[in-house]
Amino acid sequence: MDDTRITKSDGVKIVSNMTDYTSLSATFSWTDARALVDGLPEGKMNIAHEAVDRHVTAGHGEQLALRWITKSGQRHDFSYGDLQREANRFANVLRARGFQKGDRVYALLGRVPQLYIAALGTLKAGCTFCPLFSAFGPEPIRARMEIGGANALITTARLYERKVKSLRSALPDLRDVFVIDDAPEDTLSLADLMRWAGDAFETEPMDREDTALLHFTSGTTGKPKGVVHVHEAVVAHNWTGHIALDLRAGDVYWCTADPGWVTGTSYGIVAPLTNRVSMIVDEAEFDVARWYETLESEGVTVWYTAPTAIRMLMKAGTGPMQHHDFAALRFMASVGEPLNPEAVVWASKAFGKPFHDNWWQTETGGIMIANFAATDVKPGSMGQPLPGIKAGIVEKDEDTGVLREVTEPHTMGELALRAGWPSMMRGYLHEQARYDKCFLDGWYLTGDLALRDEDGYFWFVGRADDLIKSAGHLIGPFEVESVLIEHEAVAEAGVIGIPDETAGEVVKAFVTLRQGFDESEDLRLDILAHARKKLGPAVAPKEIAFSEDLPKTRSGKIMRRLLKARALGLPEGDLSTMESDET
Ligand code: ATP
Ligand code: MG
Repeated sequence: MDDTRITKSDGVKIVSNMTDYTSLSATFSWTDARALVDGLPEGKMNIAHEAVDRHVTAGHGEQLALRWITKSGQRHDFSYGDLQREANRFANVLRARGFQKGDRVYALLGRVPQLYIAALGTLKAGCTFCPLFSAFGPEPIRARMEIGGANALITTARLYERKVKSLRSALPDLRDVFVIDDAPEDTLSLADLMRWAGDAFETEPMDREDTALLHFTSGTTGKPKGVVHVHEAVVAHNWTGHIALDLRAGDVYWCTADPGWVTGTSYGIVAPLTNRVSMIVDEAEFDVARWYETLESEGVTVWYTAPTAIRMLMKAGTGPMQHHDFAALRFMASVGEPLNPEAVVWASKAFGKPFHDNWWQTETGGIMIANFAATDVKPGSMGQPLPGIKAGIVEKDEDTGVLREVTEPHTMGELALRAGWPSMMRGYLHEQARYDKCFLDGWYLTGDLALRDEDGYFWFVGRADDLIKSAGHLIGPFEVESVLIEHEAVAEAGVIGIPDETAGEVVKAFVTLRQGFDESEDLRLDILAHARKKLGPAVAPKEIAFSEDLPKTRSGKIMRRLLKARALGLPEGDLSTMESDET
């Protein structure tokens, strides 16, 4: 952790949705955020109303809501009016097929317009929407559909044939499968049904506490949990999009998250639409040249991506950036994993502006801690709690079980949040005891370790499970990884503790190399020396292994538990969310 700061007050004055962090934090209440959304008569609410209907009613039906870029590069535009009509059709299809309030509609789709239409139509009809990673194999699909009691699925013929067909008999609750292209036997053609469905639909007024969304966590630490969110969450989606991503009506916004991950919904559908931006949706997977081209040609103003992608851009160097003009780009943010300081500094040079790291979880439903457009960025820090969020570092007394808030700066403990914001999960599906364990003395315990500095910035140390205890030192893998990737040859690093007779554990690192570097003993020693110099011998890795790739979840997180299991020859555990080439 160093004191480098990227200041916002020098030079050009930053105009952002927030003028003064301190005063807003002091005066803000969630009632203010509730006033920024419409609500429905008699205290009711529906996310889809806030995302689409109210904008159309207010006369913005012609505004671009979604520009879909196909794999081959064609553009298809949907205005807010188009999105409303299509979502209405989908809601009518659901009704015609007998689906009612509370039924569960799953999506197994890539980044295609039907995903957005289905999500909004499902919410309009009062059903619960649950997205899955389209790259999942049959078993993770079955498990998640079973846990959530899926009643309907929307997918493609290819995905159906390869992954779902064989599961039908095991899923008695699954009544209908809607297929967006040529419908195989036992499925319904969505295009045919939509053709005949009316484009008017009265959005179902829901109780604020009615379930709206079901998301499975990334499974980075173990078996994924089914997290329940309610319609009231939209208050936080809207507010956090406004304040943490600085979204404004008319922005051209690009969220690169996979639709199967919570970010793909909270900030890939809900927050951008409630803030009335124009979303760019690229069907294709990551590609350096294509991404730079998209940023420039679409005039993206706000860009939300993840550390893995940023590290891949860094790996490719600044060559592919040349001859591109990113003048339109106003704000860049990152989530999902700790963002190494090196990446923030790199972006400041390469784009002329930093990435703003922010922190949240599937459970929190929305961004909780962030580097804001208006505040200084401390590279390597997750930033400060959003106005409306109280975060603390807590420590449990082992004997009494009492929770104590650690107020001394730079002291590591568990990151906790004062419960009670609108997008807080309302439960882990079928796991009440596990849910209850997350709360103590009015705090929600995140399972992440962090510390707070004297300016109130939070610094991620690691997941509680990933902490390394070596010769009396507690070592967070992030700190070690960040130093390793400062080495010119290192693209990515994953750090774990392996058992050691004398030290308890020693630090072992797996590194992947940047283009132009080859594995060699000299290079290994050079990286070791760099780490020792920066971290000191107690914290630096004792061992470094070169690796072609690091195991990652489909949401792009390094799976340290898997690195460890493999290094120790232990069972690999739940691999359902592991990234692979299968699509
Ligand atoms: P599981 O709980 O099933 O192991 P997961 O925790 O990876 O999976 P998500 O809800 O997708 O599932 O991820 C939230 C976690 O990701 C956080 O608890 C934190 O560990 C990590 N994370 C997210 N954003 C950041 C960030 N900006 N800095 C550091 N860590 C982050
Ligand atoms: Mg988690």
